[in-house]
Amino acid sequence: MPLEIKILDYGDIELESSFLVLGRDCGRTRRVPVYGFLILGGRWPVLVDTGYRDNAIMGSLGMRGLQFHENMVERQLANHGVKVGDVRYILHTHLHIDHAGKDDCFPMNTTVVINRRELEYSVSGLMHPQYPKPDILHLVERLHTPGALRLEDLDQSGPIELMPGLTLAHADGHTEGSMNVHVETADGTAIICGDVIYDFNDQIIEPQRTFGPEEYQVTGNHSGSKRREKAAMRKLMHSGAKYILPVHDKPAVVQGARVVGRADMAIPGPISQSVPRRDWFPA
Ligand SMILES: [Zn+2]
Repeated sequence: MPLEIKILDYGDIELESSFLVLGRDCGRTRRVPVYGFLILGGRWPVLVDTGYRDNAIMGSLGMRGLQFHENMVERQLANHGVKVGDVRYILHTHLHIDHAGKDDCFPMNTTVVINRRELEYSVSGLMHPQYPKPDILHLVERLHTPGALRLEDLDQSGPIELMPGLTLAHADGHTEGSMNVHVETADGTAIICGDVIYDFNDQIIEPQRTFGPEEYQVTGNHSGSKRREKAAMRKLMHSGAKYILPVHDKPAVVQGARVVGRADMAIPGPISQSVPRRDWFPA
């Protein structure tokens, strides 16, 4: 059964531009979205990432959170007729501050699924402030609650099918335990790639400050080598997936390892941000 991806809007972040693309516009501020992904059409609703806890917590990284009432995860799910308690799995691309901040809004029988390496890495002290205490402590609570947490060893097992049409894979980029989520839609495979790509235009389409058009630019925020970052992006672009969906940029349509378009999220379809209109004021 083909799955559908609904893009959720968890608010924006303002941050320094070279954090996103290495060496870009040093000292200038950029504003980027923070997306989540609701996967519908399977046996249960599945959510990928939960955004950041609140605006104040982004200040701990010297960034500015722009999260408003309509960006609350409950509201974003309600736009698609889904309640917090309906979500069967929360999948995390990784556990950075802007990806796992609302897990404690969900009941313990919603299972949070993480690559084990990412949980280990989150308490390693490497990239320390990007893994905030309340978010990680909540995951420890889940670890001690049967059914609340599921850990995978994707770096060793290879891809794992979570349910028909939905597969988890080791990303091998951005953080040590980042996970890609492969989704089979009616219009082809879509890969949710977390922060393995921050900015399609300046890293992939017209890579800034590199020696040639095939030489992707890395982000200013990664945990492994630059070679590893480039390979992780290469792997995505050569995967044969039709859509690649990062968390801080619009989805890209890919063909022959090139970006041939950007998904128009306003058009209802297998990947959309369409918000069903609801009558809040009964006649
Ligand atoms: Zn992020």
